[in-house]
Amino acid sequence: MRSLHLDPALTDCVMVSHCHPDHYGDAEMLIEGMTKGGHRHSGKLVAPRSVLEGGGKFSQAISTYHQTLPQEVIRVAPGDRFQAAGMMVEATPAVHSDPDAVGFRFDTQAGTVSYVGDSEIDDRLFHAHEGARVLIINLTCTTRTRIPMHMYTETAADLISGIGPEAAVLTHFGVGVFEDGVDEQVRYIEKRTGVRTIAAEDLMTIEMGREIVPWPARSASGR
Ligand SMILES: [Zn+2]
Repeated sequence: MRSLHLDPALTDCVMVSHCHPDHYGDAEMLIEGMTKGGHRHSGKLVAPRSVLEGGGKFSQAISTYHQTLPQEVIRVAPGDRFQAAGMMVEATPAVHSDPDAVGFRFDTQAGTVSYVGDSEIDDRLFHAHEGARVLIINLTCTTRTRIPMHMYTETAADLISGIGPEAAVLTHFGVGVFEDGVDEQVRYIEKRTGVRTIAAEDLMTIEMGREIVPWPARSASGR
């Protein structure tokens, strides 16, 4: 956040998609930042049941103490809508090894940005992310290294084709994606879908105005 000149104390809302540590790892730290170490009751925490309470194989991922710090804690399931930072946000369905997992769809003034989260392909995703200008997909695997409950290159292309965003952003690459080549996956998806596809990089920001403009990390400090 420091590299991107983002002040944690100006955070409006912390959203956690599901109860896996690569997704909730820094949530408590960010809540500390949002609430100035707990001295200020502010902001929202939004997460599904597994993250807030645990359940099944999962233990609670955010401590009870940290859940008392924000002004509001919202437990979400797919289809729930809430306000965050002046935007309407909807929790979207996901098919993942955490059965409570969700994605998030953000209706901004410049259009919809949708984050699929960790999920395998499912019919419900097409409707949930319909109309998105920017579709963010967690590409954990390639078609060769596919694992259940995750998106891989071919299913990512299916989802992108069905939704037809102006740009698709791939992120959350697994080892197999690096082994088989990130650029190869981008090329395959662009060729099959005709949709502009962007491989996310650390610290990349994307501007969504009349056009969609990615700013790679190297340009972030120069702005
Ligand atoms: Zn996961």
